[in-house]
Amino acid sequence: MKNVQNHFRKAVVTINQKHWIFLLAGIFLISLLFGVLPRLFSPATPVAEIYQDGVLIQTVNLDNTSAPITIPIIHGEQENILEVTDGGIRMKSANCPDKLCVHQGRIDSGASPIVCLPHRLVVQVRDGYSATDAISQ
Ligand SMILES: [Zn+2]
Repeated sequence: MKNVQNHFRKAVVTINQKHWIFLLAGIFLISLLFGVLPRLFSPATPVAEIYQDGVLIQTVNLDNTSAPITIPIIHGEQENILEVTDGGIRMKSANCPDKLCVHQGRIDSGASPIVCLPHRLVVQVRDGYSATDAISQ
């Protein structure tokens, strides 16, 4: 009887150790997935393209921006101040009459570009360049 109890206790201990290993392996795998997956889905760094009169005048990397970066776009009397914050961009201020670009707020995807119609300025976010982009341009 004592022998059986000992055996039983040993089995319980073994299972607990296995559980720990699985738990640690699980935590390790999850942290690995969370670290790797975002890179897999967006292999290239997102950039903001600034167009004036339909001409690309500046490309800004939106990645690795720990501190906000201010980009002034000055064209004669026309002033637009862009601000890059972690992964996104916004029109901080502008001296255009309608200020629609400022009110548009921060963008971090290509869904809706920032447009300053009076200054004919467009800021478009691209989720990085892929091979097909390189071919089509
Ligand atoms: Zn504007």
